Amino acid sequence: METILCNNPADVKITVPSLVSLQKKQEATIVKVNGIEVGGSEVIIIAGPCAVESMEQLFETARSVKTAGAKILRGGAFKPRSSPYSFQGLGEEGLKLLSQIRKETGLPVVTEAMDTRQVELVAEYADMIQVGSRNMQNYPLLKEVGKCRKPVLLKRGMMATIEEFLNSAEYILNEGNDQVVLCERGIRTFETSMRNTLDLSAIPMLKHLSHLPVIVDPSHGTGLRWMVPVMAKAAVAAGADGLIMEVHYRPDAALCDGEQSLHLDKFTNLMSEIRKVAKAVGRKIL
Ligand code: PEP
Ligand code: MN
Repeated sequence: METILCNNPADVKITVPSLVSLQKKQEATIVKVNGIEVGGSEVIIIAGPCAVESMEQLFETARSVKTAGAKILRGGAFKPRSSPYSFQGLGEEGLKLLSQIRKETGLPVVTEAMDTRQVELVAEYADMIQVGSRNMQNYPLLKEVGKCRKPVLLKRGMMATIEEFLNSAEYILNEGNDQVVLCERGIRTFETSMRNTLDLSAIPMLKHLSHLPVIVDPSHGTGLRWMVPVMAKAAVAAGADGLIMEVHYRPDAALCDGEQSLHLDKFTNLMSEIRKVAKAVGRKIL
């Protein structure tokens, strides 16, 4: 068996695993999600509801975010909820709605697989498979999405270091799948005024250490609708290759995470502001 080497950048005191390392592969990896390129010059915006709830909810939201410039639709069919009594998602019915909306809008879809047993099913319907924060160190799941030939959106564990995050990505690449997008979504700190502490310094650090694209989730990162726009812009200014944001046609009636979901008009306004920030840092949003 080939020995897998680790690469230690001179100025950072952590060990970076080989396959994800920028020292091993100097060229940025571009992840292709059904024709949409994440990690190129364009900043890719992923938007949609936290959870798929109904045809109407998904269609109205998708149509609006697409018009505003989102390139990929998000929406959970299998939801990791803190309480077993909370809405758990529509399951396969939600996956069917996602693929139906993809057909109608042309937007590729990303949705979460929470368990190894869900990977095959999710891969049948989705264009990109999300591994959620709570599962970042679910090693059998990482291996399973690594074997599956779909792009993966890997969210940082809420208590994971950057070294642990990169090692989790390494699991996926080690199974032969290099189509991995890293997502900073906030970490737990001593701070309690926000849902999480969005670690924007993770963007330049991950890009310093790895060739994989990095996106940011300001929705889960803050938990506060009013704070999402400013953190979204800050993330693009700090070099993010994309954003994933929760948007809902009726946030107050959302079955999940309504308090951090943007209204359709607010998302549309935000897109024009993000375009300006992207341009200022030499990127673009089409
Ligand atoms: C999500 O994006 O739907 C989600 C559950 O986020 P996280 O895994 O980052 O909590
Ligand atoms: Mn959510």
